Amino acid sequence: MPADLLREVWGFDGFRPGQGEIVEAVAGGRDVLAIMPTGGGKSLCYQLPALMRDGVTVVISPLIALMRDQVRSLREAGVAAGALTSGNTDAETDAVLDGLREGTLKILYMAPERLASGATVPLLKRAGVTAIAVDEAHCVSQWGHDFRPDYLRVGELRRALGVPLAAFTATADAETRDDIVARLFDGRAPQSFLRGFDRPNIHLAFQPKDGPRRQIMDYAAARRGQSGIIYCATRAKTETLQAALNAAGIPAVAYHGGMEAEARRAVEARFQREDGLVVTATVAFGMGIDKPDIRWVAHADLPKSIESYYQEIGRAGRDGAPAETLTLYGPDDIRLRRSQVDEGLAPADRKEADHARLNALLGLAEATACRRQHLLAYFGETAEPCGNCDLCDTPPETFDATQPVRMALSAILRTGEWFGQGHIIDVLTGTATDKVTQRGHDRLPTFGVGKDTPRPQWQAILRQMLGRDLIRPDPERHGGLRITAAAHPVLRGGENITLRRDLIARARPATVVRTQVDDEDAPLLSALKAKRRALAEAQRVPAYVIFPDRTLIE
Ligand code: ADP
Ligand code: MG
Ligand code: ZN
Repeated sequence: MPADLLREVWGFDGFRPGQGEIVEAVAGGRDVLAIMPTGGGKSLCYQLPALMRDGVTVVISPLIALMRDQVRSLREAGVAAGALTSGNTDAETDAVLDGLREGTLKILYMAPERLASGATVPLLKRAGVTAIAVDEAHCVSQWGHDFRPDYLRVGELRRALGVPLAAFTATADAETRDDIVARLFDGRAPQSFLRGFDRPNIHLAFQPKDGPRRQIMDYAAARRGQSGIIYCATRAKTETLQAALNAAGIPAVAYHGGMEAEARRAVEARFQREDGLVVTATVAFGMGIDKPDIRWVAHADLPKSIESYYQEIGRAGRDGAPAETLTLYGPDDIRLRRSQVDEGLAPADRKEADHARLNALLGLAEATACRRQHLLAYFGETAEPCGNCDLCDTPPETFDATQPVRMALSAILRTGEWFGQGHIIDVLTGTATDKVTQRGHDRLPTFGVGKDTPRPQWQAILRQMLGRDLIRPDPERHGGLRITAAAHPVLRGGENITLRRDLIARARPATVVRTQVDDEDAPLLSALKAKRRALAEAQRVPAYVIFPDRTLIE
């Protein structure tokens, strides 16, 4: 019977992986926690059971726009569905209330804010609600960035109605799962489904940054005419990148949390409807989009964790057709993400967990064999090499890097764990800069031990060491590199290290332009930024503002 409904109402030939069992459990009145990847088809797992059960199913969902879309398509398929949201007209609300009173409504969508009103629970009781479904259930957890305090009321709703609850999310990590169980199910274990994390149609690729502006522009230009998202670490970058894309004749719009709600909705609507638009966005661009034919997702900067990475690339190819992704990363990203964790207000154990999630992503970035295998292993699934990732396409050349890694570790130790990558490489390559000679580092036994290895190769080695969490920038020492516990076995000679030999393609000389800002009225920073923009536009290369203390502004 579910198969008939699936065909008649949705026009689908069969279930996607995992859907069948979840539908059965939800229809059977079990408490359910289902974790499925974005695009896995979660909506169906509560909509179909709602049609199989007597009474009304209430669906708690965080976004009005998504609710309206879903109600519209359910109605078009002949399903009695409605929504109570602040966006309703009075007539819409009346129709929904009538449907509830007459017992004709099957699916009622509701924003969690609605539960704050004392009238809601009695209304739902009278209406004969027989099940609750919670979409984007990770919003109940303070752990992630989508926390919505009103989701905490859903637990109260379940207690008041005494009906089964099914929670759905794409966020797979253990802490979020525990929060959901504690807050929605009062700690009583629901039947859990953790299924089908593979999205085989999505091609996975990472590249170290090497002229990142050019890398991203080339990537977007090669995919002209296809809808894509470029995720950026900062609001400012979404705007500069958008301008650069438009200048190159690629239609693009920026999206970030600093924009007015109305402007953001306009971008969402335009992206939904237009083909070939590129959105340059911060992570604020996410839950509100339900576009099945996004053909590519690029990360101009490293995401903050493996979970964020997976969720963000998962927005590509929801229609199942081939889609592509590219993630750029470099030592600056690693430093930025580390310091975001270190400087955050979270308690120490949570900071450690955040470092671990970042490490998992860096491990994926520096993987030496099939990325999908590596990614799925993180989510607890085993798989064969996929044939649809950059490392399957071109297996990387690896080498036993134990010796150079030990050299670098010892240079870091001998200089007192106070210095950044540039200085360490100066010491290793025997480059007697002023800083090196002033500190007497040219007299260290490690001075020049690595002079046969070219500088870009050292950069790649140190980046991979950061990625393996053998070394970390220390926030207490202005980002000076220090050695982690993971490096001890390597130093002691108990562990060998294999690294990728991918050189940074070619070292390009930087042009240094010293500039005088003479207009005393102009704020220094904005004057410098304007100068940088002008240079970047004139020379069509990335340009940076570097202050004497080495602060870098793109
Ligand atoms: P999620 O909420 O898990 O991200 P959705 O419920 O939005 O995913 O579904 C993603 C897409 O997959 C939608 O376009 C939906 O119509 C489609 N879909 C879901 N289940 C099936 C199925 N069994 N067969 C074919 N398409 C499906
Ligand atoms: Mg969904
Ligand atoms: Zn692969």
